[in-house]
Amino acid sequence: MNRILISILLLSGLQAGAQDLYIPRDMQKAYKNETRAMDGMPGRNYWQNRARYDISLTALPPDRNIKGTETITYINNGPDSLRFAVVKLLVNVHQPEAPRDGAVEKDYLSKGSKIDKATYNGMTMDVRESPYFRTVTMVRFPKALAPHDSAKVTFDWHYEISLKSGREGMIDSTTWFLAYFYPRIAVLDDYAGWDFNEHLDGREFYSDFNDYNVTLHVPKNYVVWGTGTLLKAETLLQPEILKRYRAALNADATVRIVTKEDWQAKRVTAQNAVNDWEFRSTNIPDAAFAISDHYNWDGSSVVVDDRTGRRAGAFAAYNDTAKDYHSMAAYARHSLNWLSHNWPGIPYPYEKSTVVQGYAGMEYPMMANDETYEDTTFSRFVAEHEIAHTYMPFYMGINETRYGFMDEGWATTFEYLIGTADLGKDKASELFKQFRVAGWIQDESQAGDMPIISPGTALTMQALGNNEYGKAALGYLAVKDILGDTLFRRCLQGYMARWNGKHPTPWDFFFTFNDIAGRNLNWFWKAWYFDNSYIDLAIKSQKKTKTGYTLSLANIGGMPAPSDLTATYEDGSREIIHLGPATWEKNLREATINLDTKKVLKTVAIDGGIWMDADESNNSLAAQ
Ligand SMILES: [Zn+2]
Repeated sequence: MNRILISILLLSGLQAGAQDLYIPRDMQKAYKNETRAMDGMPGRNYWQNRARYDISLTALPPDRNIKGTETITYINNGPDSLRFAVVKLLVNVHQPEAPRDGAVEKDYLSKGSKIDKATYNGMTMDVRESPYFRTVTMVRFPKALAPHDSAKVTFDWHYEISLKSGREGMIDSTTWFLAYFYPRIAVLDDYAGWDFNEHLDGREFYSDFNDYNVTLHVPKNYVVWGTGTLLKAETLLQPEILKRYRAALNADATVRIVTKEDWQAKRVTAQNAVNDWEFRSTNIPDAAFAISDHYNWDGSSVVVDDRTGRRAGAFAAYNDTAKDYHSMAAYARHSLNWLSHNWPGIPYPYEKSTVVQGYAGMEYPMMANDETYEDTTFSRFVAEHEIAHTYMPFYMGINETRYGFMDEGWATTFEYLIGTADLGKDKASELFKQFRVAGWIQDESQAGDMPIISPGTALTMQALGNNEYGKAALGYLAVKDILGDTLFRRCLQGYMARWNGKHPTPWDFFFTFNDIAGRNLNWFWKAWYFDNSYIDLAIKSQKKTKTGYTLSLANIGGMPAPSDLTATYEDGSREIIHLGPATWEKNLREATINLDTKKVLKTVAIDGGIWMDADESNNSLAAQ
């Protein structure tokens, strides 16, 4: 057979296999339109829109009123003329009337964003508030935006920063976290159309890849940290601080850039009434900032790309009283280094990361907003998780609202892998089990066993939490167990190369892994991600044979989870056999294991490790 024929046969085999997985009708349409391909690649008609945001933001504490103006240069790369755009006003989640997943304190509430003026190519646009939506609105374009054309959309707006911060807001009276603060054009997908999803706080975000040029006007004696390259630092920082900041960008050890004493002596920033801090970033899904007039600022850096020698900065901004944060720049540096060189093993894609002390445990491109903890192991754990999000969702353009398991699941996977390097396998596994798995596997209600593939917009509470974090991560780690590290790495990095800067769906991910691994893993994807499965393996019986013993295993919960089978013999010796997920490939419910031995069996037991078993009473058997 010639090579072309072989590859056609392989392809048709994969495509026939692909039929096994449920494919939503909007994705079927994408395959038909060839915006996506069934081998997991972007299709030959793949497109996505992009924009450039030129934003000017004025924040002058103690005045809580924040004013912004922006010009969005929006490019329509799609096949249709656009007569309107969906616009997200995410801080409207603070409005008393806004729908939310959970209760909030009174100090969280505000009036939200008010758009004072909107234009489209110089023509005034009406922005009508809908009584039915709060964080989503629509603007009608006075003239249709043709395919492959661009338009300049402007907004003037203001909002009052909330006293109580969530993912943004006031951390203290003069430390503010500014995120989701600008009107942004929602994602228009090739397969799902406009993203009309209301932001309800529980589910996260979805953004196009844009260029940001943001200037923040803040009073003197305030530092601004944020996404992008800080321009003209020499006009903003006093010479000694500037020197330390620049030293940090090349330092292996932590440099104390701004200390409590520097603030007291007012020797940090330029002494203009208002300083203009300008940040520039390209091809990035969001920009977030923090300002403070008293936070310490530490910095360090590390080579993240060995090939080019590129370094990335690791910064921390915090209250001097937060003990753990005195080590935070070092934790961030360690995260950048480890993630770049191990898993996913792709150089950290940005120039820096800044971890800001707040209350959110939340990621933003180049920024994290994390709590302070007494337990520094936990502080580092949270920093590692949030920085790991750089890859998913940001590098990969994941729709976190709809498919949070595609970003939280991977951040949780990387968190476990880096934890294993930091703490050793036993400790990391114990932490992972308690923090990520127990809550699901010990909850017998139906909610946690909902299929992971369920859209996040249809899930709440434990169904959302379990599916996005622990369950999804256990699935990815089980695939690592099936493929082995080398092939798993090739699949993961291949997926990331194909979809970096784009908007992959779960099917693009599943089919890419099938394609690169050269194996149809649909049996696994189906059991782990599409079914109401849970982990409950059992040893049903054992039988003496001529060559040893035959063990009958049952998979009661239906998850093809890895486990270790330990056979203990009468003479005190033990044998451990690893049962990978493939044990359940042919038959998801039953498996037979042959033990070739001349010894007399005493007991057999299976242990899933991090793949915790819902019912351990059926995991062992004593020989009669
Ligand atoms: Zn996360």
